[in-house]
Amino acid sequence: MSGLEQLYQQIIMDHSKSPHGYGLTEGDVTSHQRNPVCGDEVTLALRWSADGTRVEEVAWEGSGCSISQASASLFATLAAEDADAGNAWTPDDLQAFIDEFREALRSRGQIPLDEERFGDAAALSGVSKFVARVKCAMLAWVAAEDLLTRRAAEA
Ligand code: ZN
Repeated sequence: MSGLEQLYQQIIMDHSKSPHGYGLTEGDVTSHQRNPVCGDEVTLALRWSADGTRVEEVAWEGSGCSISQASASLFATLAAEDADAGNAWTPDDLQAFIDEFREALRSRGQIPLDEERFGDAAALSGVSKFVARVKCAMLAWVAAEDLLTRRAAEA
């Protein structure tokens, strides 16, 4: 295993052990996603700015394998870091992240996640070599996409 792969594995372990963004509240609009193959579950909420234009926080709860839980945690961390930096996501920004993530994860190791954009979540790049685990890593991102789609339908 290369040094980079070891670092990535450590990041995934850390996030599965002490997840970020964990905890939903009553007012959250959530999407519940299951990966029956692995037994993973993620319920995720996007918390929008007061004017409803930007994602200020990603919150979630779930259970399952370390990849599914670490991916949700890394997704929440990425949202928080961008919001803290003054770059809270618009719906288009979020959709772009989801599309890039999906493309990389389905690439069977051909397209790594861009570390400049994805930060620690780039640690999930290696999952794309394991086709059976791609759904685990996608779960939180699929939940976010579901929320975006529902939101667009209501607007
Ligand atoms: Zn899993």
